[in-house]
Amino acid sequence: MKYREFNKNEEKVSLLGLGCMRFPKVTPDKEEIDIPRACEIIDYAYNNGVNYFDTAFPYHGGQSELVIGEALKKYPRDSFKLATKLPMWKLQKKEDVLDTFNEQLKKCQVDYFDFYLCHAMNRERMDWLEKYEVMPALCRLKEEGKIRHLGFSFHDTPDVLEELLNRYQWDFVQIQLNYLDWELQDAKRQYELIAGKGLQAVIMEPVRGGMLASLCEEADQVFKDAEPEHSVASWALRFAMSLPRVLTVLSGMSNMDQVIDNVHTASEFEPLTDEQRGVIDAALEKFKKNKTIPCTGCRYCMDCPAGVNIPKIFKIYNDYAISKNKNGFKRAYEELPESERADRCVECGACMSQCPQSLKVPERMKEIAAMAAEMN
Ligand code: SF4
Ligand code: SF4
Repeated sequence: MKYREFNKNEEKVSLLGLGCMRFPKVTPDKEEIDIPRACEIIDYAYNNGVNYFDTAFPYHGGQSELVIGEALKKYPRDSFKLATKLPMWKLQKKEDVLDTFNEQLKKCQVDYFDFYLCHAMNRERMDWLEKYEVMPALCRLKEEGKIRHLGFSFHDTPDVLEELLNRYQWDFVQIQLNYLDWELQDAKRQYELIAGKGLQAVIMEPVRGGMLASLCEEADQVFKDAEPEHSVASWALRFAMSLPRVLTVLSGMSNMDQVIDNVHTASEFEPLTDEQRGVIDAALEKFKKNKTIPCTGCRYCMDCPAGVNIPKIFKIYNDYAISKNKNGFKRAYEELPESERADRCVECGACMSQCPQSLKVPERMKEIAAMAAEMN
């Protein structure tokens, strides 16, 4: 495993971190974690040098913190870094900050968090930092040693990021960065702002919810022709790892094949050359010809009050956009219970405020419903 130093203070963080929002599940459409299989992944990662584990209050309906705490408690506390996040949207009064934090310590069976983040910050939530006196409470916890490093995860525009960086003293920032979002979601500018402040970035969604593990046949072929021995996903991890101000790259691994491949990528990592970057550009060009919806499958938008299975519908649509297989689309769409289909959307907009990708969900649902009706 390769490591990066955090803040030059000789704290070593593994270049690959384990994201704890995509553990194997008992059934695909429910949040419940398949605990034995999840523990196998956690143990393999730990025993192969991964020392950064990133969970959050809402992951797997609240079960992620419990599972990672239970799985890691057999290891010495100073041999791993545990990161979790304050669910900003749950705050209703200032006391909630401390109450939530103490509940998280309990759930994770630890007495401090190495990295603690304000979760999914955006313009609206920036005001809540003041409204609920979040920063004084978190700074006190830092003084008490219950938080080692304080940061935030971020989903908004670079302007908002800049404001947030200037307004408070942070130790690190977590952003979504991958070679598709480098331009698409201005990840390049976000990375530069963080680096400009002398901070390090923790990277989430390097493989964009699995999308960059298999793009489309033509794009995958470009990678395979260049380096047959490497997986398509490894290009995405290496892209993020090649940036010098990146501290660790989180990957939410759902099976043993993924963890073995990712550990291998991080262990033999060398920064990408210009020639290798050219390979990524060539593959991306082929991929961009497919008009996919950039949904990462994070499920923050669920549950939809009208019952629409938003991530599933986008996945079915994206499979079609890549394969152009109308029968495949029809079959997958018809397998969805009628109560979960796109035409059930009542355009309430509740999902949009939760979506880190700022997807115009109701608009897309209308289009997909029309497309499905046309194919009938
Ligand atoms: S806009 Fe549509 S998909 Fe989104 S939460 Fe409302 S009903 Fe559900
Ligand atoms: S629509 Fe947005 S919030 Fe919902 S799963 Fe996709 S990316 Fe996540």
